[in-house]
Amino acid sequence: MTAKHLAEVVQKVAAASARAGRSAPARLVAVGKTKPVEQLRECYDAGHRVFGENYAQERSIHWSPYDRELTEKSPAMPPDTRWHFIGHLQSNKAKTLVKAVPGLAMIETVDSVKLANRLADACVEAGRVEPLGVMVNTSGEASKHGVEPNAATALASHIVNECAPALAFRGLMTIGMPDYTSRPENFELLAKARSTRDDVCDALGLDATEVELSMGMSGDYESAISMGSDNVRVGSTIFGARDYGEKK
Ligand SMILES: *Cc1c(COP(=O)(O)O)cnc(C)c1O
Repeated sequence: MTAKHLAEVVQKVAAASARAGRSAPARLVAVGKTKPVEQLRECYDAGHRVFGENYAQERSIHWSPYDRELTEKSPAMPPDTRWHFIGHLQSNKAKTLVKAVPGLAMIETVDSVKLANRLADACVEAGRVEPLGVMVNTSGEASKHGVEPNAATALASHIVNECAPALAFRGLMTIGMPDYTSRPENFELLAKARSTRDDVCDALGLDATEVELSMGMSGDYESAISMGSDNVRVGSTIFGARDYGEKK
């Protein structure tokens, strides 16, 4: 079932990307948080390589944190699996995560200079050859974490100027409203992300094509692509609704 749902999403991403005039489809991050490795494996066997994991606030504090979950899932998947970390990362966990997950491709949720520095140090210490891609989380008040859009430039500038070559600044991510489907605020949020990218590009002398936008989830990934998203993070549509359960 998972592979079938994945195929449907891949197809919709391709169609929405073509409609948006993209030369290549937006990247699909299959978000397998709370889901067993078997389901991820089904996607892998169907040819998918990019997976997202996070640390979600809504999960009971009695449960193991998601970053540990990623460090557990990573060795259980083939080595060419590409992992995107999409949750809030505490800077004191940076080292563990980088060390335990050689396939870590992107941290989408960098929200402080401290975290960027810790990640860069961790990459050097782990002897990573490939720069670790990072995005600045510009969700601001829409989530508990993330920087306000007007602070994105300063953080991006720090990453570009102080954290290379260990880190490679790849773009901006935004988490939408909880009911992401129809409210006009969501479109404003996506439009805001685009203008934030323009600001960052102006300030750092980068071309917009070099700075990705990560926006769009199950409820709105097609419209997010039409709004210019380069990276969509789709979980429940592929893997089924998440059951957070209750710790007994
Ligand atoms: C869980 C999660 C997603 C995927 O959400 P779905 O609605 O299940 O597609 C995307 N982005 C982030 C940051 C998430 O935490």
